[in-house]
Amino acid sequence: MKVYGRITVFPIMPSRISRLYELAYNLWWSWHPEARELYSSLDPELWEQVGHNPVRFLSEAEPQKLEQAATNSQYLERYDSVINDFDHYMHPPQDETWFSQNYPHLQDKTIAYFSAEFGLHESLPIYSGGLGILSGDHCKEASDLGLPFVGVGFLYPQGYFIQHVTRDGVQEALYDKLHFSEAPATPAVGPDGNEVVISVDLPGRRIYAKVWKLMVGRVPLYLMDTDVDPNAPHDRELSARLYAGDREMRISQEIVLGIGGVRALRALGISPAAWHLNEGHAAFLSLERCRELVTQGLTFHEAREVVTANSLFTTHTPVPAGNDTFNYDLVDKYFSSYWSLLKLNRDQFMEVAREDHGWGSTYGMTVLALKLTGQHNGVSKLHGAVSRKMWQFLWPGLDVDEVPIDYITNGVHTFSWIAPEINALFRRYLDPDWGRYVDDPAFWDKRIDMLPDDELWKVHATRKELLINYARERLKQQHLRLGEGSLQIDEFEQFLDPNAFIIGFARRFATYKRAALLFRDLERLKRLLNNPERPVQIAFAGKAHPADDPGKALIEQIYRASRSPEFKGKIVFLENYDIDMARYLVSGTDLWLNTPIRPYEASGTSGQKAALNGQPNCSILDGWWAEGFNGENGWAIGEEREYHDQEIQAEADSIALYRLLEEEVVPSFFERGESGVPHRWVGTMKEAIRTCTPQYSMRRMVKEYTQRYYVPEIEQSVQIGENSYAEVRALATWKERVQKYWDGVQLYVQGQREGQLSLGEGITVKAWVRLNNLAPEDISVELVYGETREELAIPQHTIPMEYSKREQDGAYRFEAHLQPEDSGSIAYNVRVVPTHPLLKGKYEMGLIRWA
Ligand SMILES: *Cc1c(COP(=O)(O)O)cnc(C)c1O
Repeated sequence: MKVYGRITVFPIMPSRISRLYELAYNLWWSWHPEARELYSSLDPELWEQVGHNPVRFLSEAEPQKLEQAATNSQYLERYDSVINDFDHYMHPPQDETWFSQNYPHLQDKTIAYFSAEFGLHESLPIYSGGLGILSGDHCKEASDLGLPFVGVGFLYPQGYFIQHVTRDGVQEALYDKLHFSEAPATPAVGPDGNEVVISVDLPGRRIYAKVWKLMVGRVPLYLMDTDVDPNAPHDRELSARLYAGDREMRISQEIVLGIGGVRALRALGISPAAWHLNEGHAAFLSLERCRELVTQGLTFHEAREVVTANSLFTTHTPVPAGNDTFNYDLVDKYFSSYWSLLKLNRDQFMEVAREDHGWGSTYGMTVLALKLTGQHNGVSKLHGAVSRKMWQFLWPGLDVDEVPIDYITNGVHTFSWIAPEINALFRRYLDPDWGRYVDDPAFWDKRIDMLPDDELWKVHATRKELLINYARERLKQQHLRLGEGSLQIDEFEQFLDPNAFIIGFARRFATYKRAALLFRDLERLKRLLNNPERPVQIAFAGKAHPADDPGKALIEQIYRASRSPEFKGKIVFLENYDIDMARYLVSGTDLWLNTPIRPYEASGTSGQKAALNGQPNCSILDGWWAEGFNGENGWAIGEEREYHDQEIQAEADSIALYRLLEEEVVPSFFERGESGVPHRWVGTMKEAIRTCTPQYSMRRMVKEYTQRYYVPEIEQSVQIGENSYAEVRALATWKERVQKYWDGVQLYVQGQREGQLSLGEGITVKAWVRLNNLAPEDISVELVYGETREELAIPQHTIPMEYSKREQDGAYRFEAHLQPEDSGSIAYNVRVVPTHPLLKGKYEMGLIRWA
């Protein structure tokens, strides 16, 4: 029959355990294994069948099992303890969270976080990869720290695809429908008590989205869905899937996410004081905020000052496919009735997001996000530098080091990724409450040696065995589906050997990640894997984007190798990589391999999960590992450099990798003491735990975001909102004036051009500036100096030059004294930059005049 409505009917729940419902509707269970066990232990088979989804689980649980649990004293003890923890978590006594202790005056503010995907749990497939996992982890930690935080995104009914691999290794994409009545989501209601439905205008029609609410601990996520009346069938599909469809679909989704997302918050009565754009997908939200302010009477320039003052943009990848651009035809089609609402004409509107790489202008979402937010960051130290170079064109005149894009290195939510057995070990030997010290390096430095080698080794062996069983089971299921006979199926029982050295490689199959790097020299790989004394095996997993043919070809190559006689049972490819599988892999293989083309891996986080579970990384010095590797906590493949030619790079990196494995990594693993424990290897495991757990934790990361961005933004937004935006209006007027006269600003310098000094001596430098209608307080004149390297000078030091007098001819005279602190060759120059107390940094306008 055709479905009209769908309702989930729960069995009658014994009242003694009735709060299992409430718990099911808060993703808090996703990082509390003892909470998940309240469900899974009732009926492990059903728990697997329902994909670890507690809501579905409860709707299908047999009433007798619930009745039995309600009278089982052991179960009730566990139940009471979990419920008690949950209540304490949700309603902590006054001032118990990190945020409320540090920022008691900001507790009534809201930080809004927009993301196209959220990776919270395997039963909620609204994520595709690293970006989504990061958002999910970010929300969980925001909840743990007590931030006043809300997430905004989509509740995709079909989510990201399920990966099937055929007998030939061909990836097939399947979509399962997530029925929202079976998801831990409820319709969001506004202050008037009605369910929230918002609308946005697309060409020739208005489309609607219903807003769902999903609780992640204390943090609500508001997720939109367009599969509602009275949308046309095509529009109902709009939020069906993640990263599917054509450019029109993409721009429509991004309009709903950005513009619709702001409207959803308004309809819910939420006025954020800080806004975080996680990736450029949501950048239209800044346009919508400008539109709101223009409606209140501000000009676009004024509105833009208000919007940028309290918003942050995080860029996540230098890979072009990860930075959306739209051609002007499409933007005309979707925004021709919108720019007039901003009181802009077409050219002015396009200019805001214009990107031009020599083959015509396009509308760039990353450019839009950079231009309409006041703070910007990349996701590792190296990625920050790469981003400054990549987007330097937006701040012409600035040296690349001065481009205002900073970085905060990614981390992982410790309790979502730590294996329960490792957690128990830490509790026993480090501190029963070690979770309180997750991001405190001193704790780890002091305590790590209290972990006995043999215990860590034993627990690791347990996790390895769990992974091997899981992998065999998954392989059997896959091949049963593919119609293999029972003999072949039995064979999988022998796949992967607990005594072998097992390398893990699981990530999206994007070509820059080079999953097949180890296959460049097949003979060498065969020798590595077939050494009877030191057997090596590899577990692969990962999805390629359905439109990425080269990525899919890599899967085929690896799958075929895994079925070939020489590698059978030694190389496995596990289909449908997801959060569940990731938990097995990051805690069950022996070495985590990462082979991206430097510098394309902006951060990477799976290696951080591995390290936390005592698994050393072996990785290219890219992303987080470029700063995380300390010489003792794992291995670095190749050199800290980039190559001009990717083929040469792959050749060099693969040779370095073979050599590392053959000469260092594998021998270290098989070097056993009398008791069979590889003490040297376990030393590396402990060093990985000690160094990576605190530094690459989500706790360290979210604290950094809060201290460096959210709190200053909230404070800015309070200041700016005063007196009907009087200050920003003045700033906008000032900026327009500076823009108008800047070209006519002239600078002459008088100072020694060549010569020698003795350390301790100095020179006086004078500069004259013709201001072309600007005033001396509109600018600052700086003497900049630093070491020289070939023809370039590195701007290391800046001395403000003092205004001394106005000359007869109208020029303003400035002076400074330059006295180098070190010997060596230095160079100096003088520059003028606009200054205003409300600028978010002196380079904000990108205007600079060098002598
Ligand atoms: C952690 C994780 C990722 C991201 O890992 P990278 O190292 O950034 O590639 C992707 N998918 C899943 C399922 C994960 O758990």
